[in-house]
Amino acid sequence: MIPRYAPTYTYSDVLRSLSGCLLGDVVDDLRCRLARLYKVKHVFLFGGARVALYALLRAYDRPGGVLGPAYNCWAVPEAVLHAGYSPVFADIDYNSLNMTASTVEQSISPDTTVVLITHQFGIPCDVDEILRVSRRYGILVVEDAAAAIGAKFRGRLVGSFGDATLISFKITKVISGGVGGALLTDNDELAYKVDRLLQAATAPESYCRSLAKTVAWKIATSSWLYPATLFGYRALRGERMFEVVAPPTEIPASFLTPCSRFLAALVLMQLDRLDWNLSRRRRLAQIYREELSGHSGLTLPAVPEDCSPAWTQFPLLVNDKRAFYKHMQRNRIDLSWTHRYSCADSLGLNGFPNTQRAAQTLLGLPTYPSLPDERARYICAVAKEYPSAMR
Ligand SMILES: *Cc1c(COP(=O)(O)O)cnc(C)c1O
Repeated sequence: MIPRYAPTYTYSDVLRSLSGCLLGDVVDDLRCRLARLYKVKHVFLFGGARVALYALLRAYDRPGGVLGPAYNCWAVPEAVLHAGYSPVFADIDYNSLNMTASTVEQSISPDTTVVLITHQFGIPCDVDEILRVSRRYGILVVEDAAAAIGAKFRGRLVGSFGDATLISFKITKVISGGVGGALLTDNDELAYKVDRLLQAATAPESYCRSLAKTVAWKIATSSWLYPATLFGYRALRGERMFEVVAPPTEIPASFLTPCSRFLAALVLMQLDRLDWNLSRRRRLAQIYREELSGHSGLTLPAVPEDCSPAWTQFPLLVNDKRAFYKHMQRNRIDLSWTHRYSCADSLGLNGFPNTQRAAQTLLGLPTYPSLPDERARYICAVAKEYPSAMR
């Protein structure tokens, strides 16, 4: 069976991380590496991009509206609420799946203090235009590049445009580690305050827990065990293709966590092969585009001119998501349903038609580097049977 996601690390990476984190100061090494990659002064590592956002908002300390796409990972508005701000949304463009300068401008109010320029699934949004609009209103610009390490907008690394940037090393992102994320900024005052917050953070995830989780992920996504993993996941979570997520009641006690040494070591060694990782993802996306474009019933994402996405998945828009998913499943292919909700729904806000539509029609084709080209071609062959098979 072809899994929807697979970790980008190998068993040998896991072993090397164990020894790596016992020896040198891997957390500082990773901070330096990221600082060099993004040409940024300050890098802080947290237990997730959501935690990095929380710390940044706390440090910025201008509670008000935080504007981001309604079609997004629910962890983002959740972190905004935890930090004492209010999430505000902009609709997306149905083809690019990202916010546009005009949807952003429509949603800015005098109460808006921060805008989150989000590169969904690693597809760069029109950062130039959105930046111009946000600057006009004097709003703090944060780039949510959680899913976009290595993506480029007109030749320049996504995440190097705003006042601060978030990246994530979650299992489903470009470089998978576990719970981990980073905050990048050139702003000394913000950095000073974030540093103070980080000093007061709770302990990072323990070695044993990180190790157990990374190995478990690896085993659970191996093709022989994957059917059982999926069965278990369904039993626990059901197979809801669309839902309204409930807003959080209170902030978890240990929300503000730093990143563990183990995760830092695991990410550090994968940064060495980032170019290979990205070239595999782009190759798979190219196969999907070549094979599937122009095929009725399948809509492919539009990428802005001169941009190289990082493709954490390859989104495909289909009219009957459930029927298409079942069809792929029967042929031993699993797809991602991310995101199957509108964040605006959770807060009872209306007026985001493209978000609603994307949440109901989007499925993600796998793009992890270890997926061979032949598998991607097989996925396309099965996908192309879809309209006739479903009619
Ligand atoms: C995954 C993701 C996040 C959350 O990252 P975590 O590390 O899981 O907290 C935030 N924003 C976007 C766009 C993401 O894809």
